[in-house]
Amino acid sequence: ETNQSGWNLINSYARLPELFFSSLTPPTVSEPELVIFNDSLAKELGLNSEVLKSEEGVAIFSGNRMPEGSEPLAQAYAGHQFGHFTMLGDGRALLIGEQVTPQNERMDIQLKGSGRTPYSRGGDGRAALGPMLREYIISEAMHALRIPTTRSLAVVTTGESVYRETELPGAILTRVAASHIRVGTFEYAAKWGTHEELKALADYTLQRHYPTIPLDENRFLALLQAVVSRQAELIAKWQLVGFIHGVMNTDNMTISGETIDYGPCAFMDIYDPETVFSSIDRQGRYAYGNQPPIAGWNLARFAEALLPLLHENQDQAVEIAQEAISVFPDLFQAKWLSGMRAKLGIFNEEDQDQTLIEDLLDLMKQERADFTNTFRALTFDHVQETVLSDAPEFSEWEKRWEARLDRQPQSIADSKELMKENNPAVIPRNHLVEEALEAAEKQNDYSVLEKFLKVLTKPYEYSEIQTAYCTVPDPTRPYRTFCG
Ligand code: AMP
Ligand code: MG
Ligand code: MG
Repeated sequence: ETNQSGWNLINSYARLPELFFSSLTPPTVSEPELVIFNDSLAKELGLNSEVLKSEEGVAIFSGNRMPEGSEPLAQAYAGHQFGHFTMLGDGRALLIGEQVTPQNERMDIQLKGSGRTPYSRGGDGRAALGPMLREYIISEAMHALRIPTTRSLAVVTTGESVYRETELPGAILTRVAASHIRVGTFEYAAKWGTHEELKALADYTLQRHYPTIPLDENRFLALLQAVVSRQAELIAKWQLVGFIHGVMNTDNMTISGETIDYGPCAFMDIYDPETVFSSIDRQGRYAYGNQPPIAGWNLARFAEALLPLLHENQDQAVEIAQEAISVFPDLFQAKWLSGMRAKLGIFNEEDQDQTLIEDLLDLMKQERADFTNTFRALTFDHVQETVLSDAPEFSEWEKRWEARLDRQPQSIADSKELMKENNPAVIPRNHLVEEALEAAEKQNDYSVLEKFLKVLTKPYEYSEIQTAYCTVPDPTRPYRTFCG
């Protein structure tokens, strides 16, 4: 049963044991204003854009009014942050319900920045405008790059200030996700829940995200294996576009396989596996090149949380878990390799492909080549205009690549088409994201952001507009993002 706005909410999470959440309604805000709204996502969700862009939506997206059928709650979870286990939970977010879409999918609708919850600890429960707009831009760009991700439906300013290093305008992001169940949700259940509560969470997760897994006694192992496989696929996709998450704590890894939590994330410009963006990641734990092993480490924490469900005998459970997670490096490598082949226009498999790819990456690193623009230059035969041509070894590499393409049945034109589909022309480059945010924050001018978003939602098109967004930043000014 729907209403005028199109809300069709169910609240299956609220039926889990009470351990997993706290029910609450958010505090109201004084002067909410809708600054950005995602029409195409609204349509996918079965929501009425016209109604939601009016007073009705402003009231709902600010937390001032709960939509019909909503049972708002903050979710409890724990997590390993930079390797250390801690209790967390939604400290500034509220799940307002699960929207059942016209395609009969169930999507979490969450307000981020809506105020304090029982899990806020010392925090104010609020969010600043800049970081919420940043999450909106990057999550929508990721979606357009065909990478599983949470999405962004709307941002409202609250009319209230938040205090970080300075006074900033407050805002609330409406985040949409397959669910917000995290590795950290399972760690929480394993640490503080009973056996039955852990099992209830696992069964809920199975029916919500892996409904094809048969509900027999092996289902929890099958869940572990399925998550390992989805994460291998996800991390490979990140690596293939140069995405650096920045805070791969276990509370920021979903069980659905979607990217979540766009805090200090960024896309790499110059190729260097050691690239780190987060100002708080001094050790480089979450550097670009470390993302695959860190994902493996996080999955080991997931497996640990599942141990009581894997076998009555815990020694045997450990063996089962270890075997299940041991396949992660190979799964990741296979996904990454096939993605890299596509980026180079290679259709079939040869043993030396990996060496060919690694040699290119080594040259890119040596010459400090831009990651995205190098693959774009290879696609459009203008590599001579890039720094790669400075390397004497490059022409030798290029000959090997051309010979490789000649050894497959497909034509060069076919290879170029494959490359165009796999090498984006535009990514949300940090300096352009900052420009868009600055216009919005300082001048209340959202046109730069809107125009940028339009380009970002068509990353594989190669028109003049896309080209205008390919400029690389000044390499003498290193880029860092901050949490907030
Ligand atoms: P994150 O680093 O974004 O994954 O957040 C880690 C934890 O800090 C989560 O439990 C958040 O809910 C919480 N948190 C982040 N910012 C705030 C805030 N301003 N107020 C309360 N809790 C927060
Ligand atoms: Mg988080
Ligand atoms: Mg965050």
